[in-house]
This record gives sequence, C-alpha cells and structure tokens, in this order.
Amino acid sequence: MEKIDFNAELNSDQYAAVTSPPDRPALVLAGAGSGKTRTLTYRVAWLISECGFRPRDILLLTFTNKAANQMLARIESLTGYPARSFWGGTFHSIGNRFLRIEGGALGLEPNFGILDTEDSDKLIKKAVEESYPHFFSNKDNPRSKLLREIISYARNTRSTIQTAMAYRFDWIETPASQIAEIARAYEAEKRAANNCDFDDLLELWLKLLSENPDILKKYSERFGNILVDEFQDTNKLQSDILDLLASRGNISAVGDDAQCIYSWRGAEIDNILRFRERYPAAYIYKIERNYRSSPQILNFANKILDGMELDDEEFKKTLVPARDGYFKPRVMPAMDGASQGRNVARAIAEIESGGRYGYDDIAVLYRSHFQAMDLQLQLQYAKIPFVMTSGVKFFEQAHVKDIVSQIKFVANPKDNVSFLRFCRFMPKIGDKTAFKIFEKIREVAASKSLPEWRVLSDKKVLAKVPAAAKQMFEAAAADIEKLGGLVELAKRSEKHVEANPAEKIPVQTDFFADMAHAPEREASADPAAENTTEADFSPKAIIKCACGGWYRDAMKTLYEDWEERAADFDALFEYASKFDDFDDFLASVALEISDAEGRESEVGGRVRLMTVHQAKGLEFPVVFVIGAAEGLFPTQRSIDGGDVEEERRLFYVASTRAMDLLIISYPRVSAVGGNFEMRQASRFLEDIDPATYELYGA
Ligand code: ATP
Ligand code: MG
Repeated sequence: MEKIDFNAELNSDQYAAVTSPPDRPALVLAGAGSGKTRTLTYRVAWLISECGFRPRDILLLTFTNKAANQMLARIESLTGYPARSFWGGTFHSIGNRFLRIEGGALGLEPNFGILDTEDSDKLIKKAVEESYPHFFSNKDNPRSKLLREIISYARNTRSTIQTAMAYRFDWIETPASQIAEIARAYEAEKRAANNCDFDDLLELWLKLLSENPDILKKYSERFGNILVDEFQDTNKLQSDILDLLASRGNISAVGDDAQCIYSWRGAEIDNILRFRERYPAAYIYKIERNYRSSPQILNFANKILDGMELDDEEFKKTLVPARDGYFKPRVMPAMDGASQGRNVARAIAEIESGGRYGYDDIAVLYRSHFQAMDLQLQLQYAKIPFVMTSGVKFFEQAHVKDIVSQIKFVANPKDNVSFLRFCRFMPKIGDKTAFKIFEKIREVAASKSLPEWRVLSDKKVLAKVPAAAKQMFEAAAADIEKLGGLVELAKRSEKHVEANPAEKIPVQTDFFADMAHAPEREASADPAAENTTEADFSPKAIIKCACGGWYRDAMKTLYEDWEERAADFDALFEYASKFDDFDDFLASVALEISDAEGRESEVGGRVRLMTVHQAKGLEFPVVFVIGAAEGLFPTQRSIDGGDVEEERRLFYVASTRAMDLLIISYPRVSAVGGNFEMRQASRFLEDIDPATYELYGA
C-alpha cells in the first residue's frame, strides 16, 4: 500500500474526523458537499494503513448500491485491497450477507429467495384472500400495495400496525387488528416459500443478532469499526442493528440532518439529533467548508437552511465556500409543462455548445416521475441525448423479471411467487390456479424427495393444468428442468471450490444424461444436451438458458414489442458475465431492485434525468430543478397534510447537487385531469431573498 498523505488531501476538520480513535463513537455532522463521504472513504484507508485493521474487519454501510460501489472503488485505489475484501454495501445487501452465512440459526435455508415489491403484493393478496375472502369487495379497504406499505412502515419503525396507521395512514378505517392478521398470514406465506422480502433482510438480521449472543459476539468483536454514510436516513431497525453491533462504541457515522428525506419510509431524524445521548462518549466533528458548490449556489442553499425549523442551535449550519463561482442561480418560470421542457432543452443545448460542459455534466431533477414526461419529449425533439434513471428499474421490467423468476424458482424451489410469474404466460392459468398447481407440485416433490422444479412434468401435476395450457406448460417444464440442472451444477461446484479452494472445478458431463431419466418423464434425449461435453454453468450461461426455449416463444404471445424487449437480453448477459459465483449473481439481481436509486446505463455523453431522491449524495456541474411550483414541489399531499418540512429538505438536497450552475424552473399552468390549473412559484422560492437568484423571462 502506497503511503497516503492524509494531511494534504484533507482539510483540518476532515483530518480530525478521519483520525478519530476507532474505539470511540464519532459523528461527522456537516452540510451538503462538505466532504462527508470523502471523509468516510479516507477513514477506511486510515484504519487500514495506520491502525492495522484488515479489510474484513471493516463494515461500511451506505444507502445505495451506486454509492457503495463508488466508495469501495475509491478505497480499493487508495489501499490496494480489492473492494470485495471489505464488508461494504447497502444495509440490505449486508443484511443479505449475514443471513446467507448465519441465517440457519433462525431456521432460514441458505438458498432463500428475495421478493421484490411486486412479488410481495401477490403474496399479500393471497394472504388476504385466505384470511378475509371478502376484504377486497369493500372498496374502503386498502389494496395490496397500500397494505404492504403499512406493514412495511410498522416493521421499519418497529411499531405496531395500530401505531403505524395512526401516525401515517390515518385516513384508513380498516381495523388495525385485521391488518395485523394479514401481516401475520403474509409472514407465514413467506416463510413457507423460503422467501424474504426487503424488510426481512433488516428485520431478520436484527433478530439474528438479538437472539444469538454467540453470533453477535463474533461480529461485534470482529468489526473494528463500523462506518455509516447518510446516517440521517437510518430508521429504527437500522439503528437498533447498529446499537448491537457497535456496542463497544466502534462506530463512525456521517450525515446531515437537513438532508433527511426518507421519513416516509421510517427514517428517524432523532438517530442523528440524539447521537450524543445514544453514545455519550461520542466525538462530534463539524466540517464548515464546502468543496462542491460555487459561493452563489451556497448562498442560495444557506437561505433554504435559514427557513428550516431548528430545535437545537448545535445543528445550525452555514455552508462556507471553498471555491470560486461566476453565476447566481437562475429561476425560469414557464407557461406550462411543454414550454418548461422546451426552455430546459434549449438551455441545455446552449450550455453544451458553449464547450465548457458536456451533456453528462448536466442533470435534471424533479420531485416526481410524471414531471419528466414533457421534458423527455422536448429533449427528443431537440435531439439531445439523455438517460433517465426511471421509476421502473432495469430488473423490474416485466420481461427481465420473467427470466429472473425462472432462475429464482430453480434456485429456491419452494418459491411459489416466482412459479406464479412464469405461469402467467399460460392460457387459463390465473394466480389462483397457479397457486393450486404449485400446491400439487410441492406435494409430489415432498413425496419423492426431489426439488420442486424436477417434478413439473409429473402426471399428477399435469392433471391440474388446464387443457388449454398443457402444451406450453410441458414445454416450460422441460426447459426449466434443464435450467435447474445448470443451477445445481453451479451450486455444487461452488461448494466444491469452497471446500478445496486450490482445486479446479470438475465438470460433470453426465448430468444431462441423468436428467433424461428424470422421474415420470419420457426419456426424450435432448440433442443439445448430448453434444455438451463441457457444461457451462456460469451465470451468463444460466441466463442464456432462461432466455431461450419456451420463453422466447411465449414472450411473442404476451408482448407486442417483444423484439425490442429481447434486445435487453444482451444487457442481461453482460451483467451476468461480471459474476463467477451464482449466488452472488442472484443476490445482486435481487438487491438491485431494493435500491432507491435505480439502474442507469453506463453510456456517457448524456444528460441525466432523475428524481431528487435518486440524486442523493451525487453532484453535477450543471443542475436543473424543474417543477418548483406549489402543489408539485412541495407536493399537494404534503401541503394538505400541513407538513412541508421534509419537502423543504428535499429542495435543499436538490439545490446542493449543483457545482457551478443551478437553474430552477416551474410551469405557471398545469393540466390536471384535463383541467388547467394556475400554479404559484414554490413557497421554497418565495421564502428566499430574491437577491440570491436571477429571475428569467418573468
Ligand atoms: P452530500 O451531503 O451531498 O453527501 P458530502 O458531504 O458527502 O456531500 P462529498 O461528496 O464527500 O460531500 O464531497 C463533495 C465534493 O467535494 C467532492 O467532489 C469531493 O471530492 C470534494 N472534496 C471534499 N473535500 C475535499 C478536500 N479536502 N479537497 C478537495 N476536494 C474535496
Ligand atoms: Mg455524501
């Protein structure tokens, strides 16, 4: 490891925080762009180079996969240790890692599947239909998605359903006891299918640590230091996990209370405000200087900070510029959404032709996804390349989920929701029928001690399949058995390598032959299989197998634009080829979806469009914030609810993403359900001294 000159690369406040004693709790409390994330990165390097910690003794927790990857890459180049030797990632990904290794103590099988929100909704629906068959006929009862949100909020805040409802869902009149019962039934469904939802990754992680003193001891002794970025957005579950793991005070947290933007998901701003009470020995570090933004932008951001309610002077912040700047922030009102889009497109074209900034230096942020629609259109007209970190993430797209669900099913054969997923291609098989078929599959599999995917073409199972679907079901069954064979090979070889790390992986060429004699199946030799002398069971080969065969035919029946969708498979192959280890691959796919950030293509040279939430922690030379009008930002819902403080913090987050240029725009008129509505400038702009910005085209 090369010697790092910590003093030269950090200012004195940052240096103090980086070199804080590892056994004393440390909190860095500082405004946006002051180098908190940088401080955390250097602290890891310092712990390794100066304190003699090993990478595996360091736990680094962040909120998005992208932030985690960026930090680990930086740490890798600073320390020379490969990124994967650290315990670094999002809370959910580290929870997943704990549960894969230690989950047996909770009765969790190591191949458990991870449900995304759509899967969870299906299971909740099933739980409702079984507990309260008439629940959904009452129009006042919440639908599955809202039920999931209530249950999730209660779990993340570690409160009862009743408290969660009173606090955040007070318009719902359904008795809390009913929803609690649904939550229990949903829980049972998940466990029976050996599945976890995203909240389980935290909740079971906490349970694991609190119920197993030996396991807790092992890890709390092992992690010399636990570092947490964006601490202001931790919720009760996360802070309870941290309290257990960092009971020795070996925690370093960084955050900015003014950037707490996830309270709707249970983020507990008190975690940062009361850090000193929780950890009385804590050192608190402040960093005043801001390296990101121009003095003009900071002046504007300071005015937003002035408008925030503060209980405690300790948290009063002023962003002090460390660099020069030329332009005041600009505010551009527009006639309506379309003209806002046109103005922004025109401004982007001008900025780009100035030669100083490329398209990828520019980001457009908005409060809600729908606001990007007009803009997308105008950017297309103006032929400006852009990439949108969309609400629907790559792995949430229907066809990508189709592929992944087949793989998830063979990896975790009890996973009834993934089975349901690919059954939706079959004529006459709705959710209910699919669940019934699965019951039979489970029964047959148990009686023969075979994994579920091996018995899809069993006569007893086929007897449950509606005649119209038989042909497709049988084709699918054959392909899924093949897929299962590959996954089994991949898993066997992983185990083998673990046991004998030095040895080469033996390739079992007889596996397909063995499969041709699968129980209750005509021994129709598969020509492709016969030719296989060397089975390729890499994640990429597995994905390829799932994209072909019956599925390629089936997708033509369901998707009109199947050719376009099939083009995405290349992106999937590419993604898969980054992995050697099958379990890593699968966990990564599942966790991509848990991320607030979404997945964007890595192609450069494009303007980036994203929500403010997705822009957390990022910075861009040029930032547009569109839709800064009453009812949009702050949202109507927050205005009606009488609390816009979180919206104000979001506005602060948005403005502080900008390094050189900040341009804020809003439509004077917007169309709501065919009616036109006049809009006022956002109160967040009205609250600010107009001398801090320039008004254009008013
Ligand atoms: P946010 O609150 O938005 O997450 P942050 O406090 O984490 O911001 P960073 O992203 O770490 O801030 O830093 C902001 C920018 O300032 C980065 O480009 C970083 O490299 C730069 N920076 C921070 N400290 C220094 C320094 N001492 N010298 C030079 N550049 C610095
Ligand atoms: Mg940061």
